[in-house]
Amino acid sequence: MTVTESPELAPLPTALPAMDVVGRLPRLRALLAEHGCDALVVSELTNVRYLTGFTGSAALLLVSADDAVFVTDGRYRDRSAEELGAVGVEADIRIVGAGPDAAIAEAVRAGGAQRLGLEADHVTWTAQRRWSDELFADGELVATSGLIEQLRLVKDPGEVARIRSACAIADRALTHIRPQLGDQPTEAEFAALLDATMRDMGAADVSFETIVASGPNGAKPHHTPSDRTIVDGDLVVIDFGALVDGYHSDMTRTIAVGDVGAERTRMLDVVLAAQDAGVKAIVAGVDAAEVDKACRDIIDDAGWGDAFLHSTGHGVGLDIHEEPRVGARSTATLDAGQVVTVEPGVYLTGLGGVRIEDTVLVTDDGCDRLTLAPKNPILA
Ligand code: ZN
Ligand code: ZN
Repeated sequence: MTVTESPELAPLPTALPAMDVVGRLPRLRALLAEHGCDALVVSELTNVRYLTGFTGSAALLLVSADDAVFVTDGRYRDRSAEELGAVGVEADIRIVGAGPDAAIAEAVRAGGAQRLGLEADHVTWTAQRRWSDELFADGELVATSGLIEQLRLVKDPGEVARIRSACAIADRALTHIRPQLGDQPTEAEFAALLDATMRDMGAADVSFETIVASGPNGAKPHHTPSDRTIVDGDLVVIDFGALVDGYHSDMTRTIAVGDVGAERTRMLDVVLAAQDAGVKAIVAGVDAAEVDKACRDIIDDAGWGDAFLHSTGHGVGLDIHEEPRVGARSTATLDAGQVVTVEPGVYLTGLGGVRIEDTVLVTDDGCDRLTLAPKNPILA
């Protein structure tokens, strides 16, 4: 079994550097005209957070060439002012009891926008009908797609620091508790312990529902941890992450408990080699599809092409899954400053699964691996 040993784990951060939140609205404004709108209604909450620093659960943001109008409800009266103020975002904050979209529509009329963009990927049919029939019946609605997501692709140093910190917590949590896999915990018990350990180490939350898939359950890439007891002979797929100030980490390790036999050992060897090839293929300027191919070719050559049931990776940031997608049909080209995962896997019904995943930062001369927990699959 060939395993590249990992470097020292990164230290847990003490203080997080500031992010350049205030620079984001001007970058969005520069895109409005080329997308055919005078103003844009931002309704997707993660996008609102990205542009304003607001972390609450209800808000709409209107962005035009000169103004930003932020609408939320009374629960967030003080918090919105504090959060926008803390990052230096200037917006006209309006607190409404009901109908935040009507308040936005009023601001649109006052600003005189004729062509109003909506986030087509995030607006419900009902909301779109309300805008076209009632709120903006006299103007032209423009279906925009991916405007803010495009800005979110490249992370600023403050964002990278948060993701790096989330990765460091996940690294340390798994490294700390992995010996306990030998104590015959259930999948659910081990997942709960991992989640608690990440919180103890400073995670605000888990990044997503932790996957612990042991034995035959490993053949299901998105297995929910069950009351199955982890026993000798199991491969255990552990896919998890930590959340730090809204930013995610994402890592998978597969660990062999006891003697897993020749076929499962070969699965480990093949996926480790495929994952290593994928990480080595990453550099600014490479097509995401090429990274997928680097992984897939090795798994194909091993005869398990059909058992690699998903694409190779995805962007990570304020969302656990975001652009760019790293798959065979991806049209993205990777740029320096993007954060993506590389996570090939092989899943064989009855036998189990192997997935190995790192979160990496794309650089001009390769990539900077952010998840550093050892990949050695042997439980020792
Ligand atoms: Zn994952
Ligand atoms: Zn992932």
